[in-house]
This record gives sequence, structure tokens and C-alpha cells, in this order.
Amino acid sequence: MKKYVKELLFTIAGIFSESPSSFNRLRLLSGARVTVPFYHAISDKPIPHLKHIIPCKTTGQFRDEVEFFSKNFTFITIPELHDHLYNNAELPPNPMIITFDDGLREFYDNAIPILDEFHATAAVFVNSDFLDNRSLFYRHKASLLVEKILSVANREQVNILSNYFGYQMSPRQLIQKILSIDYLQRETLDHLALVMEIDFNAYLEATKPYLTSQNLEEIIKKGYFIGGHSIDHPEYKQLTVEQQIDQTVQSMNTIAARFPQPYRIFATPFLDAELSQQYFDAILPECVNISFGINGVKQDSVPLNIKRFNMEGEQYFHARRMLTAYYLVMVILKLFHLNKLQRD
Ligand SMILES: [Zn+2]
Repeated sequence: MKKYVKELLFTIAGIFSESPSSFNRLRLLSGARVTVPFYHAISDKPIPHLKHIIPCKTTGQFRDEVEFFSKNFTFITIPELHDHLYNNAELPPNPMIITFDDGLREFYDNAIPILDEFHATAAVFVNSDFLDNRSLFYRHKASLLVEKILSVANREQVNILSNYFGYQMSPRQLIQKILSIDYLQRETLDHLALVMEIDFNAYLEATKPYLTSQNLEEIIKKGYFIGGHSIDHPEYKQLTVEQQIDQTVQSMNTIAARFPQPYRIFATPFLDAELSQQYFDAILPECVNISFGINGVKQDSVPLNIKRFNMEGEQYFHARRMLTAYYLVMVILKLFHLNKLQRD
């Protein structure tokens, strides 16, 4: 059913997105204030630690999208957004800021040259533990394990890995199981890596998946913005409120101390829908000046938590079509008064 609705939505969005006037009309009707797309990495070749968890757009696809953004939106800076949120300053028509999560090196290597070309503004959100390639995100470990199972695992190894979970699995089931390992079970990935003879530290050393301090200093000099994205990317819904606050405050303080910028911005790892008012009261507006979530289609009861739109899907769609789909959902939710996200 979900798949059917999604397909229907993208089909309708495809029709609307063809015409610039329909796109503009829908955007207006949706009531979207600032459009904030988010990506993880842009790459022309498969990246082993992302391949099985996140679909990446190519540089050609991304270039097309930024060109489209530059023609249909006005890029704004974080200080402009801050001034709007705190002092009611007026924003230019159709404001946009592009964002990237997880502090991956592809932001520096592949996205910045394209963003530069179109004078686009962007922010990148960094996990304090992964910065400078000191450790590997547990989801990236899962992707590496799956990659190895697909490329080299024999039946015997699959059996050994399955035994770890206590029952026999087919390679396909094993892969599903590995991809479903959550933050609290993340040590399991290290045990499985031992069996598969994967050395995560050697991979970090050889590949350097994350941005370095030097990259970040250059990024700031170029006029881009850097924010926090928690210490080690937990699923906040698995943490107590105190642990959530601790993850945000500690990572934000690390980033702000090492890379001073005029404003402190933070993007919640994974979903932010279930975060409480108590959490936001603790972090806003001092520790975090502007928070970013991913609940793109709903109006948040926390005005300083800015919604964003995911630009990566299993199937490739141009940003024009994806934004049209989001605006369409916003219009429908608004019609049925379901567009408010109330925090308890
Ligand atoms: Zn993330």
C-alpha cells in the first residue's frame, strides 16, 4: 500500500513538475517557508560504506539539480536565516539552503565544486567522533559487512555469521539482519567484522571517508557553514532525554570550539519526529541556535526546528520532482488539517 501511494505520488508529481507554473503554484500553496534539501554524498562511483544504506546521486545529476535550484530559488545564508527566525527579518522570495549530513568527504571532493559554480549556499553537519576519521559510523560498518558478504562470503562463512544470531539464515536473510542492526546493538557489527576479517581501522586509514579538520577550515573560508550532528549518530528514540541532550550538547560544543562560526547549527541524526519539547527546551536557543530535522512535510510546533526534504531515494528522481511530491503532500495534509507536528 505504502509503495503504491508513493508511486502514485511520484507519478502525479511528475506531471506537475513538468510545468514551471504548476511547480510555483504548488510551492506557494504548500506554505513552505524555507526549502531545505538534504543529501549525504554525491559520487560517480559506488562507495562501499554507503552502497547498501544510502543511494547517492552522481555529479551530473547533482549539477542538474543545483542548476534547477539556482533558477527557481534564492540561496540564503545561515546568518540570514537566523535573522529571519530571531528578528523577523524578511527573506528573499523562495529562499533555499542546501544541506549535507554525516560529514562525508564527498561534500568537499564532489559537491563543493558544483555548489561553487552556482554560488549556492550550503551547510554540512558533522559527527564529532567521526571527524578526522577517528572512528566509523555503525551504519557504514553494516554497509561494509554486506559488501564483503556479497563479494567473497562462502556458505561456511555465512553459517558462522548466522550462528552468531543463533539460527541458520540464507545470505539474503543475513544481509537483512545486518542492515537492521541498530545503535544499541552496534557492537555486534565489530564481532561480525572479526569473522569476516574486516579491519575497520585499516579501512578508515586507507579510505578516509570523513571530512578532516583541514577540510572544514577550508569549507568555512569558502563561506559554507558547519554544524553538529551528534557524537556518534545514535537513534535518538533509543536514548533517554538526558542522553539525547548530552549527545547534542557535547558534539555541538566540540564543533563550535574547534571551528568558530557566528551561529551554532545542529541537525538531528535520523528522525526527529519523536523528539520531545523537553529536549528542544534544553538545547534551544543557547546551545543550538537553529536545529534542523527531516520532517519536511509538517509544520513543527518548535519554530527553531527547521524541516528539510530528503533528496535521496531508492529510485532516482530529479529534485524538481521530489520537491513537487513534498509540496503536494504538504497541500494534502493542510487540506485535512494534518500538517501540524505537536511536541509533547
Ligand atoms: Zn546522519
